[in-house]
Amino acid sequence: MSLSNNLDRVSEQVTSEYYESEITHKIWQMKYRNNCYELAHFLSTCDLSLLQYLATQIRSNHTFDSKVITYSRKVFINLINLCKDSCSYCTYKKEPQDIDAIMLSPSQVLAIAEAASRKGCTEALIVTGERPETKYPQVKAWLNSLGHKNLTDLIADLGEKILKKTGLLPHTNAGTLTKSEMTKLKPTNASLGMMLESSSERLLSTGEAHEFAPSKIPKVRLKSLLSAGELKFPITTGLLIGIGETFEDVIDSLLKINEINKRYGHIQEVIMQNFIPKAGTPMEYAKSPTLEYFLRCIASARIILENINIQVPPNLSPKIYSRYLTAGINDWGGISPLTPDYVNPESPWPTIREISKVTLDNGYVLRARLPLYPNYIVDPKLNTQFIHPTLKGYIEPLVDNYGLVKEDSIQNEY
Ligand code: SF4
Repeated sequence: MSLSNNLDRVSEQVTSEYYESEITHKIWQMKYRNNCYELAHFLSTCDLSLLQYLATQIRSNHTFDSKVITYSRKVFINLINLCKDSCSYCTYKKEPQDIDAIMLSPSQVLAIAEAASRKGCTEALIVTGERPETKYPQVKAWLNSLGHKNLTDLIADLGEKILKKTGLLPHTNAGTLTKSEMTKLKPTNASLGMMLESSSERLLSTGEAHEFAPSKIPKVRLKSLLSAGELKFPITTGLLIGIGETFEDVIDSLLKINEINKRYGHIQEVIMQNFIPKAGTPMEYAKSPTLEYFLRCIASARIILENINIQVPPNLSPKIYSRYLTAGINDWGGISPLTPDYVNPESPWPTIREISKVTLDNGYVLRARLPLYPNYIVDPKLNTQFIHPTLKGYIEPLVDNYGLVKEDSIQNEY
């Protein structure tokens, strides 16, 4: 792993005071090394405020405008919340007999998308559990009743309907997908989402967070990231911090993501998500990461990841999310003015007005982006490579010269 790209940029920015400092000197040395253990040890022990300083310098150089923090104005379409896996921290997954099990009909999906269109949303986030049709006959019956054999075909069909009827851009998070499944989704999805969570195999062992979640085998998820790259399909991934991983696992995960992105340039964003224990789950009494640990993880992500945006969801830290701006993030993720966060229903999103104020109070400006980051839109080469021709006609009217959502198309909430 080379840190050269980021570090070269840092070198132009840091003052002579910092240039001479111990932290800068050590990181400069590390650009020639590929040792995860050594890097993790250094990043875990160096002064946090200096680490954050470096991260914010890199953030300033990474983004087209160092004072802009983005979000995606989305609607959360909870298509089906059944899942073949069982992660020890999850309350999203339901059983078919549960009163809150959901299998939406196409007309329900379109009604949600149309309501979102009226609210000025530009992203239709379609979320499902992991391959529920392989476990539950009820799901197979539901798919058959809609004329489909598998979930991917249904999502492709719904994506087309959403696009044509509302102009919202679908972004699907259906867990691990094969290359042929992604191929079916590319004409209708601006991007995909799939959390890596962690590259740690140890989390699959007895008593750990992913013991009953074979789809969370890191190799499986990394393969999905590679498949998306081969297809030039922009994708968002991320880490769930505090689920039993070590700091070295975090650094290893970031290095692996960065290596894949260096091959294909398709990982548009990494979500750094802090674990929150949920009542009724096996991890109910596990602890959330401390703020210091989480800030260290975020700043390390900004230092390691080259040309990848970093998001932290504000609703999981409602009182202190502004602190993440000091660790180098440049995005607040998808915020819905309409639907709850079905994955974290106990953590409502702040209003867009509040996020705008918090962002402004900290010296930045909030701007809406599409579920596709601006560089893929405004760079002609990336535009050609990464955007399917059928989507271009939907994307172009929505954005300004910077590839951000035109201000006049958003209701006045700032
Ligand atoms: S986190 Fe995702 S994969 Fe794990 S149980 Fe929940 S829905 Fe399934």
